[in-house]
Amino acid sequence: MAKKTALPVGDLGLIKELREHGRLADVSELFKTISNPEVILVTCADAHEEHVLHKHKFTSSIHFHSYTGGACRLSLPDMENCELLIQDVAKDAVQTITSINRRHLVALVGHYPCSWAENYGAGVAEQIVMLEVAHHRVTEAIRQALLALKPPITDPVRVEAFFYINEGEKKRTYWIR
Ligand SMILES: [Zn+2]
Repeated sequence: MAKKTALPVGDLGLIKELREHGRLADVSELFKTISNPEVILVTCADAHEEHVLHKHKFTSSIHFHSYTGGACRLSLPDMENCELLIQDVAKDAVQTITSINRRHLVALVGHYPCSWAENYGAGVAEQIVMLEVAHHRVTEAIRQALLALKPPITDPVRVEAFFYINEGEKKRTYWIR
């Protein structure tokens, strides 16, 4: 039986409202703010078509951090390896910031439909909140790691969260602001 991919009506309403309030923007808005950065992409393992940053020729370089649940997993307090995953992303970001003379972007991606989110009982609203928590944690981990360097680096860290929706015919990516 084919997997049902259409967004529930409640989620469509939520997305419409978040867009009206400027909390969700089309990913194309992001492309206006930064060009060809080194991207550290945290994405779910079952989201094969999710790598929109690559597809839009936004960047020529992506470091994939791909595992079940993707960036949403980085928000969980009770996952044993959640902190390890965050540190792994932070380490990659610090290495990129310190060793490659290019702009960086840490991209945290959640998506619909997602088997992990479904099994976890997380709908679109919960996933967006999870991405906001993950955003805060990852930003803080990178900031702390940069401050621990000698000499410390105090430059702003660029972390952004995205939500990819694949309803079959209709695919789009939102930038969570
Ligand atoms: Zn998934």
